Amino acid sequence: MGNLQEKIYEKSPHFIQNSIVSIYNILAYKKRYSGKYRHFIKHYLENRNLSTDQLKDVQAKKYSSFIKYAKKYSGYYTEILSEIKSPDVLSNINQLPIINKETLRNNISDIYTIERSRGVISKTGGTTGKSLEVLYTKDDIQERFALLDDFRSNFGYKLGKKTAWFSGKNLLTQKDIKKNRFWKTDHIYNVRYYSTFHIHGKYLKYYIENLIKYKPLYMVGFPSTMYEIAKYGIANNIDFPANIVKAIFPTAETITDDIRAVLEGYFKTNLYNQYASSEGAPFILECKNKNLHLELQSGVFEVLDENCNPVNKGRMIITSFNTHGTPLIRYDIGDQIELSDDTCNCGNNNPLVKEILGRISDYIYSEEIGKINLGNISNCLKGVKGIVKFQIQQDSIKELLVLIEKDSVVYTTEYEKKFLKNLRDRVGNSIKIGVRYVDEIPVEKSGKFRLIKNNIKDKIKN
Ligand SMILES: [Zn+2]
Repeated sequence: MGNLQEKIYEKSPHFIQNSIVSIYNILAYKKRYSGKYRHFIKHYLENRNLSTDQLKDVQAKKYSSFIKYAKKYSGYYTEILSEIKSPDVLSNINQLPIINKETLRNNISDIYTIERSRGVISKTGGTTGKSLEVLYTKDDIQERFALLDDFRSNFGYKLGKKTAWFSGKNLLTQKDIKKNRFWKTDHIYNVRYYSTFHIHGKYLKYYIENLIKYKPLYMVGFPSTMYEIAKYGIANNIDFPANIVKAIFPTAETITDDIRAVLEGYFKTNLYNQYASSEGAPFILECKNKNLHLELQSGVFEVLDENCNPVNKGRMIITSFNTHGTPLIRYDIGDQIELSDDTCNCGNNNPLVKEILGRISDYIYSEEIGKINLGNISNCLKGVKGIVKFQIQQDSIKELLVLIEKDSVVYTTEYEKKFLKNLRDRVGNSIKIGVRYVDEIPVEKSGKFRLIKNNIKDKIKN
């Protein structure tokens, strides 16, 4: 929304604001669901049961035409790809340079293949605070949404079915907050947008009461927000009725075992994970058997060690076929994955991923132990009650600062000891741990909550 629209929005009553949200969605959805969207939906439905060899064949063909496109329309790639023999042959992929976020940022205007005015802009946040603008063509957007909708339709989802959405849009006004109303509703598409900026102990009751009343069939969005709501419900013995939510589709954040167990347990449903990114990574999608499949039709996934040798567990280098506006070719996205040799009988013959290890930046570093990842840190809550939320900040190699939002009624010194022991077990004995109790740990500008804020990544060698 522009500034003027924002002002009009703020001054309007709640029901008008709901309509403005609907109109805004109609415009956004028009981009997603027009043009080739139907063609792509049909295409992915038809391709659902391809064999692994057929999928690899589709992948090689798409790779070839994508590379040819980049060579023709991206100034940056015209130059680089001209020096490589048959760059469009998939088996030659290791001849192409690997780029990272810095390379992308520094060369972005040369990498674009289209004018800004013709593209759909996606802003990606960075840990350093500098954001990056990725341009998609309309076809890219339509194909990405068709693929996602095809994935969600496995679990009965369709646009228009009642959905609770937890995303980074801040749609609330002061009046809403005074009235303890933390949502806006698009009545045309049946989506209720819950704020991810007001996840505070004193408000969570209203979120749960409203969710129970609204009865969403699907819950989509930031898992960290849904997790806080679920933990509040559990801690306060507020039962969430069974047989309401058909599935939870998290976006944008790493799912730890703890987050999955809490969300599935509290909302009494299944969570189906997806991996994609705002830069436009190819998709990794979870099936009904709860296995993660690489979607080979959306791109190429390479798993490499620090010396660029293929390995089973390592950094993920992606080439994404739906990034024609800003071609991502051998892009080091900063996440790590582990591949699996198992097969799945769900009917999807795409290869399996054992685990998405998430952002390499989501870790704490201790000289004694090395890197301690997000999953391990989140497990520090085992056996501990009364911690509403915590965040670990690292500004020095020798010291950690733990911020804790506690529930004074439940929290005791015993729980503090247990929590700190859990943390000690993971980070070793030599690093200093400082603890600070706070009323509220703020979310990031994007609306996401970060459990770990590592500000010394540049100083850590791999
Ligand atoms: Zn499967």
